[in-house]
Amino acid sequence: MKILLVDDSPEALAIAAARLRKDEHEVVSADDGKSGLAAARSEKPDLILLDVDMPDMTGFDVCRTLKSDEELRMIPVIFLTGSADTADKVKGLDLGAVDYVTKPFDAFELRARVRAALRTKHLQDLLVKHTRIDPLTELWNRRALTDRLKQEWAKIQRHGGTAAFVMCDIDHFKHVNDTYGHRIGDKIIYRVAKILAGQCRESDLPVRYGGEEFAILIPDEQTGAAAALAERCQREIEEMRLQVGQEDVCVTVSFGVADTDGTTSPETLIESADAALYKAKHAGRNRVVVASAEQTVF
Ligand code: GH3
Ligand code: MG
Ligand code: MG
Repeated sequence: MKILLVDDSPEALAIAAARLRKDEHEVVSADDGKSGLAAARSEKPDLILLDVDMPDMTGFDVCRTLKSDEELRMIPVIFLTGSADTADKVKGLDLGAVDYVTKPFDAFELRARVRAALRTKHLQDLLVKHTRIDPLTELWNRRALTDRLKQEWAKIQRHGGTAAFVMCDIDHFKHVNDTYGHRIGDKIIYRVAKILAGQCRESDLPVRYGGEEFAILIPDEQTGAAAALAERCQREIEEMRLQVGQEDVCVTVSFGVADTDGTTSPETLIESADAALYKAKHAGRNRVVVASAEQTVF
């Protein structure tokens, strides 16, 4: 795991880094508060060891900024304090730090406290991940989509660019459930989800949007690339077979595709893709419809 060390003393940095590398942690460092905050943003460390006593921005100031930043507040902080003063320790913990280590630190104590903080961080990461993943399909859920849309929007506002969005829904799925039962229905949902995820890149976000509805957020792309991806999914799903007794069960999926340059809201992007999906359903299902051009791709 990655640890960020922030300390204005070069000796303290060197000693702590050497101790921590013994446990095979990746260690990055910064020698003042401001560059520490910048490193927290760019390096996304799993833990920050933060010296309290620094010129300009103290460790307390840095911690306050970290804890008020939505993207950084979950990174645990351990204060490195030269003072054995209880008031300082209490202040640090009240600011949201998980622990403190008094300098000059004992090598074994430092490493043990770091290990303890990292264990908790690991569990916290797992917990956060579980609240964002759909258990049946292991795709991302609506909560994860909402967060990611917010991030992508912020990115587009800052740097320009686009995002594409695919909405899809299994065709006549009620019939599948009615004919083969809910358990087989679940298996189909799972298989469809795997096909969608299999066509996604690392940067895409495949989502289980609801029951038999899925979505894919594709950053930095427009409808052209998104429609091509949807078409590949459509063909692969069409060819998929699930064996039930003597029978091969198959399904098709309809897709709606839209994109944005960030001038509209995330809700509008979803609505446009949804409207295109509605058209795909009405045009006979098992197809991809692009929102803007309203053209059908088979
Ligand atoms: P359309 O082509 O218009 O989408 O028709 P449809 O039958 O797929 O649409 P409808 O919305 O009428 O039915 C969706 C069905 O999906 C009904 C619901 O029972 C089923 N469903 C939703 N979530 C789940 C799930 O988690 N598991 C299973 N097995 N079925 C589900
Ligand atoms: Mg359906
Ligand atoms: Mg539906």
